Amino acid sequence: MCGIVGYLGKQQAYQILVQGLHRLEYRGYDSSGVAMISDSGALNIYKAKGKVKALEDHAKDKDLSGSIGIAHTRWATHGEPNDINAHPHCSQSQNIALVHNGTIENYNVLKEALTQQGYTFVSETDTEVVVQLIEYIKTKNNCSLFDAVKEAARQVVGAYAIAVIDKNNPDEIIAARQSSPLVIGIKDDEYFLASDATPIIEYTNKVVYLNDGEIAVINRKDGLRVFDIKSRSEAKICITELKMSIEELEKGGYPHFMLKEIFEQPKTLADCISGRISSDGKRVVLSGVIEHKEKFLNANRIIIVACGTSWHAALIGKHLIEDFCRTPVVVEYASEFRYCNPVVGENDILIALSQSGETADTLAALELAKSRGAFVFGICNVIGSSIPRATHSGCYIHVGPEIGVASTKAFTGQVTVLAMLALLVGQMKGLVSDETLEKVASDIRRVPLLIKDIFKMNDRIQDLAKIFTYAHNFLYLGRGYNYPSALEGALKLKEISYIHAEGYPAAEMKHGTIALIDNDMPSVVIAIKDNVYEKTVSNIQQVKARGGKVVAIVTEGDTVVSGMADYVLEVPEISECLTPLLTSIPLQLLAYYIAVNKGRNVDQPRNLAKSVTVE
Ligand code: GLU
Repeated sequence: MCGIVGYLGKQQAYQILVQGLHRLEYRGYDSSGVAMISDSGALNIYKAKGKVKALEDHAKDKDLSGSIGIAHTRWATHGEPNDINAHPHCSQSQNIALVHNGTIENYNVLKEALTQQGYTFVSETDTEVVVQLIEYIKTKNNCSLFDAVKEAARQVVGAYAIAVIDKNNPDEIIAARQSSPLVIGIKDDEYFLASDATPIIEYTNKVVYLNDGEIAVINRKDGLRVFDIKSRSEAKICITELKMSIEELEKGGYPHFMLKEIFEQPKTLADCISGRISSDGKRVVLSGVIEHKEKFLNANRIIIVACGTSWHAALIGKHLIEDFCRTPVVVEYASEFRYCNPVVGENDILIALSQSGETADTLAALELAKSRGAFVFGICNVIGSSIPRATHSGCYIHVGPEIGVASTKAFTGQVTVLAMLALLVGQMKGLVSDETLEKVASDIRRVPLLIKDIFKMNDRIQDLAKIFTYAHNFLYLGRGYNYPSALEGALKLKEISYIHAEGYPAAEMKHGTIALIDNDMPSVVIAIKDNVYEKTVSNIQQVKARGGKVVAIVTEGDTVVSGMADYVLEVPEISECLTPLLTSIPLQLLAYYIAVNKGRNVDQPRNLAKSVTVE
């Protein structure tokens, strides 16, 4: 997690750095800081606990001059969030400043060794060890900052994206990465450095993604050069042109990114589908799958690895793929899979599902599967991120930047891509008839319009949220395709309102959880007209019989559930396998409005960060 920004050029750096931190604040917001080499040659470091705004207040009367600087917004892994642990960290001589995203696993060993060499540490972070190590190497070897960072990078074990400046050289930033992302934007003789492209896009669309194991020198005179840390050989610089627009990154009049992103879904799903269903509606075109047709036809098993919301989308993907392709699918938490010595081999396909494409555990899980011969396929949102670059093939969900920490449009994008993938592979295997494909593909195309219909319930959902704002616990129940929707609904509520909520398969409830039900424990039940509708109706009766309040998500025109639930929200009818795309919308809105009523910081909930680049 955490966001890094850097600037070297002819403008004053401070505003660019701070603006960049605001754009990256979704990655972490425990504390933030900047380090700049001033016009008079001083190394000025300003840091503050809390949001970037706190840093701005703290720095406003200080010397903010300088056309070179680095900055950081933190999601603490080592040491509590406070001013001292905030980045940038400084070397003992106060000459070198460094920002870091990631975790250094051998920091204790290094710290001990450096302490014996007379270094003292002021913070509790793993990061401070890196800057002290750089200084130690630079002094001992009497070498350049570049050589010292390169050597330090070889000695540290763990994940890092770092940016380093030296007071004695106001013309150079050194950056390096291993398992944490780093992008460099280039505009004539100006250079922008960031954890992702969002702070860069307003200045230039030309970017270079640093690869794992690479170190970059950004020099005012010599420009950008990139080297391999291990082999020391110079790497070819590959410039990518970004298509993202600055408008996509703004709130567009909504009070929160999350609400904007919920309401954007008709458009983002239209973008996600665009060009992927042929105009006659008879074919699905996902080139990443078609180019590797044999792999999909011959796969013994598909393993989907994911975390959080993506894991819920993966569970829906399992249903879709098993229904349409009859290929067995297992869904794994990436963090478990990577450490449990999984049985995975050449005839397996591993699908890595991650919005950011940077989720550390998912990336490690895919590397493990790849090393054991599996074909690895990525489904991600952020173009050029680490997962798409590490996979054999994949497809993007194309829903545009998701800034709200609670994922909404990425979830529906992931489910849509998984539905298209399942249809395509099913057709390739001869298991999906033309008729079925046409029906489901035409329903996929209807989803954006149907979601717009659901938005007509917005006021009703807002009223409902008022009734339940003060509940302490919630149960979310669903079955089949909508069991994962129930999990996702509960997660949305938990993460932004801090209300405890459990998602459960509706029928499983009676094996224990039912004991929790009373008048104070509302249940949100997804009871749409699917193949287990009657069974879900019985589950609702079981809740009602115990005095529980029920909010039911039902299919339009349902009269049975309406007669027994306390509150009902209707969604339009659609192919059963696509119902999570509709049922998830009222659940997103319900969670959003409850959190707003509780005065929560919806876009930046406590303890969370958007892109989980640490283990
Ligand atoms: N491990 C570092 C710290 O705790 C950096 C964490 C991050 O990536 O924000 O300060």
